[in-house]
Formats: sequence, C-alpha cells, structure tokens
Amino acid sequence: MILKDEEGYPTGTWEGRPWKVVEHGLLTAESPDLLPHAEKAGVALNNLRAGLRVVRGVFMPSSSTTDRIWDLANEDDVGAFVRDALRVSVKNPSKVIDFVNRWGVLGTSGEALFGQAALDVIKTFPGANSMAATCEALSKAQAAAQQLDALKRRRAPSEAAWREWAAGLEEWLFSVRPSIRWDPVKGPKPAWTVERPVDLLWITLWDWATRGGRLRRCEHCDGWFPTRDPRKRYCATVCTNRASAAAFYDRQRRAKQRRGATA
Ligand SMILES: [Zn+2]
Repeated sequence: MILKDEEGYPTGTWEGRPWKVVEHGLLTAESPDLLPHAEKAGVALNNLRAGLRVVRGVFMPSSSTTDRIWDLANEDDVGAFVRDALRVSVKNPSKVIDFVNRWGVLGTSGEALFGQAALDVIKTFPGANSMAATCEALSKAQAAAQQLDALKRRRAPSEAAWREWAAGLEEWLFSVRPSIRWDPVKGPKPAWTVERPVDLLWITLWDWATRGGRLRRCEHCDGWFPTRDPRKRYCATVCTNRASAAAFYDRQRRAKQRRGATA
C-alpha cells in the first residue's frame, strides 16, 4: 500500500502479510473443557480460571480450515477493516466475536495489559488473543478517532492538544517497523512493515492525522473516512452504490404507495 500526500506524491509504502481468517469461539472461565489444557500446560485449573476471568476469555480457533485470507497491505482490505473496527460495539461481546470471525484476531495478546493475572492464560494458550485485550485495542482506536475528528474540527489548532493526542498514539506505534521493499526497477526502497491487523488501526490514525482534510462518517455504513471534499458522503464506492440503490427502492415504494392512495 502506498501512502500519498495531498498532491498525490508517495510519502512511503507499507508492507503487510496475508492474514488468515479462521472461525473462532471464545473460551472462558466457565468453559467445561479447561482441565486438559491446564494439565498440559502444567498450571492449576483455578489459576487458569482466575486468569480467564481477568482477560474475559480467549479466542480459540473452532475450525482448522481458513475461511479467507486478506492482505494487510491492500488499500481496500485495510479501509474496510479499519471502518469495521472503528464502529464495532465493544460493549457487546457477541459483536466482537462476529468481528473476529470477519477479520481474524487483531494480533494483540494480553501480556502487557494484564501482567501477572494473565500469565497462566498465556502459558496455557500461547499467542492467544483475549476478549479484554481485543476490546481494549478497539476502544482505544475508537476514542482516538473521535478525538482526532474533534481536533480537526477546531478552527485554531492547539499544539498541546495535538501533542497529547499523538503521545497516546505513539505508545501503540512501536510495533510498526521500518523495512526495505524491493522495487524491480529502482532497487531497494523504504517501507514500513505491518505484522498484525491491530497495527493497521494505529498506522491509519497516524496517516489520517498527518494528512490534511477532515474526518467524516459514512452516511450509509457509519464508518469513518478521511476526505478533503466536503460533499463526499460515503466512505467507498460500495456504500455509494448501496445508498443509491436504497434510495431508488425507497422512491419506488413511495410512488407505489401514492398510486395505492389515489386508486
Ligand atoms: Zn460506508
């Protein structure tokens, strides 16, 4: 994916790998089949249960077949993923499970967030993504998008407010790293490597913040998108098409009603 500045010049590229989407279920402290997992990892069942309560369960693949693969560097995939992530209701665990089944896990495990309480969970399910860590990342990104929108609306930019916002983002940006992309014509070129979907949230917010324009919410899907065009109402062509199809059927339905009323 190539990032461009306002004039359309490339400012950098980012590279990402294909991300597998596998159907997941949530394994919680109340799940009946925890004992064999605990025994295998050599942890006490009670400690595992306590840890699972803290992290509100971990996502476990419930199937070994890959549903689909998406590309962490594909502009359309990334746009749809970020819009979806920024509007999923984190208060509703079943919505979060649906989200994980659409996009795969975010790639964020709870080690840093939950410390000691999560150790037995991590030991038992290495690399597993927890509900709490997933919701934490989603709500941080959602709050950052709201704040960014408010900052961009201000008539006079405040350096202090922007710095505060950027500091909140920077603590998450560390996992995006510089790398080298191979251009068959020009040779080695700079690139940023994104390893996990969660990083796309931070790098997209960083991109939205450092380019001009405003943030808007799509009138069809409610997804955030950046634009310099005040007339732009929809995030992507697919939403423009769906909205005009909906308007068409709406007009037809009303015309029918009118005909019915006059008949
Ligand atoms: Zn939309």
